[in-house]
Amino acid sequence: MLDLSRERNRMVDVHISRRGIHDREILHAMREVPREAFVEPGFEEFAYEDGPLPIADGQTISQPYIVAFMIEMAGLEPGDHVLEVGTGSGYAAAVMSRIVDRVYTIERHPGLAETARQRFKKLGYGNIEVRTGDGTKGWPEAAPFDAILVAAGAPGAPLALQEQLDVGGRLVIPIGDEPNEQRLLKVVRTGAATYSEEDFGGVRFVPLIGEQGWPERSNFAQTGHLVGRARARSLPEMIAAAAEPLPEFDDPAFGALFDRFADRRVVLLGEASHGTSEFYRARAAITRRLIEKHGFTVVAVEADWPDAAAIDRYVRHRAASDSPDTPFQRFPTWMWRNTDVAAFVAWQREYNGRVRLSSRQAGFYGLDIYNMSGSIAAVLKYLDRVDPQAAGIARERYGCLTPWQSEPSTYGRAALTEGYQKCEEAVLQQCRDLLARQLEHAERDGADLFDATQNARLIASAERYYRIMYYGGPQSWNLRDTHMFETLEHLLAARGPDARAVVWAHNSHIGDARYTEMGIVRDEVNIGQLCRQQFGNEVALIGFGTHSGSVAAASDWDGEMEVKAVLPSHSESYERLCHDCGVSRFLLDLRRDEPLRSRLLERRLERFIGVIYRPETELRSHYADVSLAQQFDAFVWFDETEAVTPLGPEHAAAGVPDTYPFGL
Ligand code: SAM
Repeated sequence: MLDLSRERNRMVDVHISRRGIHDREILHAMREVPREAFVEPGFEEFAYEDGPLPIADGQTISQPYIVAFMIEMAGLEPGDHVLEVGTGSGYAAAVMSRIVDRVYTIERHPGLAETARQRFKKLGYGNIEVRTGDGTKGWPEAAPFDAILVAAGAPGAPLALQEQLDVGGRLVIPIGDEPNEQRLLKVVRTGAATYSEEDFGGVRFVPLIGEQGWPERSNFAQTGHLVGRARARSLPEMIAAAAEPLPEFDDPAFGALFDRFADRRVVLLGEASHGTSEFYRARAAITRRLIEKHGFTVVAVEADWPDAAAIDRYVRHRAASDSPDTPFQRFPTWMWRNTDVAAFVAWQREYNGRVRLSSRQAGFYGLDIYNMSGSIAAVLKYLDRVDPQAAGIARERYGCLTPWQSEPSTYGRAALTEGYQKCEEAVLQQCRDLLARQLEHAERDGADLFDATQNARLIASAERYYRIMYYGGPQSWNLRDTHMFETLEHLLAARGPDARAVVWAHNSHIGDARYTEMGIVRDEVNIGQLCRQQFGNEVALIGFGTHSGSVAAASDWDGEMEVKAVLPSHSESYERLCHDCGVSRFLLDLRRDEPLRSRLLERRLERFIGVIYRPETELRSHYADVSLAQQFDAFVWFDETEAVTPLGPEHAAAGVPDTYPFGL
């Protein structure tokens, strides 16, 4: 027989333990029970993927994570008597039997019940009793139970099950108005006739069919994934079914689709490249809606603080600073000086003009390390002059600060040339001078207190930033993202206790790093992860993706902007699944459809294009392994996309309104 113990341990480490289940009894039981013995013949090799699988009678074996999660919710203890409704394959009952004293499990399909019985016997699990019948009526002869777990979705918590709980007993059950979509509830019997209830979020189970469940109806087969006798759908088909098509950007219905996130404190909007028009226009449409209809007052973007501050003054109708520097003049200029950003900035100014009340006006802020691109440009200019070899190394190292430049050789070159080290002091001096010059103007500007405090905070750490950035490597990524997160926290605090923010940054900053190669392989953190850790469910992480088209990007750091063709997405990527689904632009809510969600937990490739795009080495340079459904709460898809249009003199001539902050 196949020895899958390594795969089993890996599954427990990666899909159970790493995702927050720490109960030792559960982890131990899951390392012990051979899941491959509970799947249908031919499916053994998939037994340790974290997904549900089809079993006989059109039913499913639950995803391992959900089994662990429900057991943890139920707080099972060694001496407990437990009832399970919905034996299915018997896997969950087997895991529970390794933790508790006795498990009673009921299945309505006689064939499934019998197969499970034989499996328990073969494995020597003697403390499980199986019965065929309607589990909504419970198992009165064996009651009371310390815990009851229901593995199918019900319209409400069946009374019989509530009554068969011991006082202190826990009922874990998916409940929802639709047969195939539920919330996972924990009902605790607190007294003879009293119960408390707790909601653990959206899930998707097959329906609980019975006297105190749903009536038996043949059309369930059409509505649920892997339910009934319908053919199991492919993953692209599942995506197509869950995809919510996106209207035109200017249609109010576009922003309205995102109203579901309007109660969040922070909505983070990603992008899969820094040079794709559709990503900017979509973020603008969503942000307009969140500001106008839901009172968001902070737009915080992946840009330098001083440059964004110039835009902020403009959109809030404040006087321009007397700084001689026009914002966003340095590489990569197209990232903010483009027609899509100009249009959004014009809208924000017009909106703020309408609201007038300054506390309700929406500000525009930069989250990045203070004047990062300015400092980098100054360093490169200096090194180009005094030590071109060191300049080459610096260019590569700065590439690592931007997504996505996985260039192992760059990190590997730890032994920098002698010249590189010799330049350090002079380079830091460049940065200090630049900072001093900018602060002088910021001070004279004076009016904006927050600007001044933010500046002061930055001076304190500038020296450290510059050194770490000069020497590069993963540390500089973490420094940068931690800084961005802290700036966001300060912004929220400064805008008042109810302030809510929209963040625009690349997918690599927004998608929870713990579920990507960044976190798993390189111990990198990012703003999305830090937001989730700090604000929990008050955060929405929304990623963006595309299959092909064109993108504005350079070939090297500091290089010219080029419009490059984006290669069709890799056959093993999430992007390819979205492309194959056949819907050209859509919102995919990753929390709504549990069977789909569990399939999108599997690690696959995802494409990251930053300010640099190297199609020649695309797989190595731009793809990384991620678990999409954990990385994001939702994914926005545009199958075919176009490069942004950088602002040029022709836009002034063509009458782009009020071009002041961009200094055309
Ligand atoms: N826990 C199972 C496992 O680990 O394989 C998965 C269970 S599957 C998601 C749900 C099961 O509930 C199906 O086998 C279905 O036939 C069963 N079921 C639905 N309604 C039921 C009812 N009223 N009584 C007993 N079983 C029921």
